[in-house]
Amino acid sequence: MTAFTPGAFGAPSPVAFDDLLDCIHASNFDRPTLVVSRARVAEQYDALAAGLGRARIHYAVKANPAPQIIRTLVEKGSRFDAASRGEIELCLSQGAKGCDISFGNTVKRPSDIAFAHAAGVTLFAADSEAEVDKIAANAPGAQVYLRVIVENSNADWPLSRKFGCAHTALPELLNYARDAGVNVVGLSFHVGSQTRQAAFWTPVLDAISRLWHAARAAGHDLSVLNLGGGFPAQYDTAVEGATSYAAAVMRAVSERFGDVPYIMAEPGRGLVAEAGHIAAEVMLVSRKSADDLHRWVFLDIGMFSGLAETMGEAVRYAITTLRDGEEAGPCVLAGPSCDSADILYEHRPVMLPLSLTHGDKVIIRNCGAYTSSYSSVGFNGFPPLAVVVI
Ligand SMILES: *Cc1c(COP(=O)(O)O)cnc(C)c1O
Repeated sequence: MTAFTPGAFGAPSPVAFDDLLDCIHASNFDRPTLVVSRARVAEQYDALAAGLGRARIHYAVKANPAPQIIRTLVEKGSRFDAASRGEIELCLSQGAKGCDISFGNTVKRPSDIAFAHAAGVTLFAADSEAEVDKIAANAPGAQVYLRVIVENSNADWPLSRKFGCAHTALPELLNYARDAGVNVVGLSFHVGSQTRQAAFWTPVLDAISRLWHAARAAGHDLSVLNLGGGFPAQYDTAVEGATSYAAAVMRAVSERFGDVPYIMAEPGRGLVAEAGHIAAEVMLVSRKSADDLHRWVFLDIGMFSGLAETMGEAVRYAITTLRDGEEAGPCVLAGPSCDSADILYEHRPVMLPLSLTHGDKVIIRNCGAYTSSYSSVGFNGFPPLAVVVI
């Protein structure tokens, strides 16, 4: 899509040509729509790769599975981290090779492991004896990395408790896998999604490197270190640039792990969030009573149609309107569905223009990650988030 009139939406960014805003401004979407830019994904890939140096990017497909994004990343030379047979098939359909895909979910169906193995996938994750057994039975000869729990996450969206084996259980799991004839090549972890500062990685890397060196000392020939994701995106607060953030993480990794033959990073959010904005619409502005201090602003998109990460107000999206610059006041922001959980921001209200009214367009910024992939099929009859890739 080209040749849009420059956007009238007050873009805070200094860029002369803004592909996303120009597309949103020129279009009249009839439903909430995520507009994602392939050029921005490609740019962010380069920025992360520059900081990551010799570590290879395995894009975490769940962040945004739009086929055009996968294709763009295949063309950039990215590898992929898939969590299911569906994600593996998607990557293959867009030109990725099986050997460039890791099957990173620690909870896999045996038939899906066999499918992946037959498709040429060689790298699998496990965090339990039963999963090691499944891999041994269904992907003989595969390389396996063991995921360990991150207990001291400083992330806005921690992934800590559900995945990984306890640090104390790792030595036994390593031995179990070796005895089962599984080729354990390394360790993986995830610092937690949206880890806003590179410095937050330090205590995690300290803990994981102790496990790494102990495992090597016990005779396990580890050569693959999987750093997972966690690379942050800019929402309502500024974060360090992708290149310097990734470079700082890699310096901290090198100091603690030395020369590891294969280091992989699995950015999801940090690669695609800033490449997309959602165009949405105000459905109602109301007050619960004449002396209610907060207006309620209901949008045509909510918790179930793409904005699931507002759960617990964990991710604070920046929202712009055509009326920005006019006098503003605090609002409770809510989605359109008949579910009282569908409130986006209430504990920390959002400042929006007082003149905002139904029918007004709003832009929710930097929404390229975990929106379309989290959208329900159509809860309450509201359409799932539409996606336009430019
Ligand atoms: C979700 C996920 C990622 C991506 O995390 P981000 O914080 O979005 O970068 C990476 N690795 C694994 C195993 C994941 O489950």
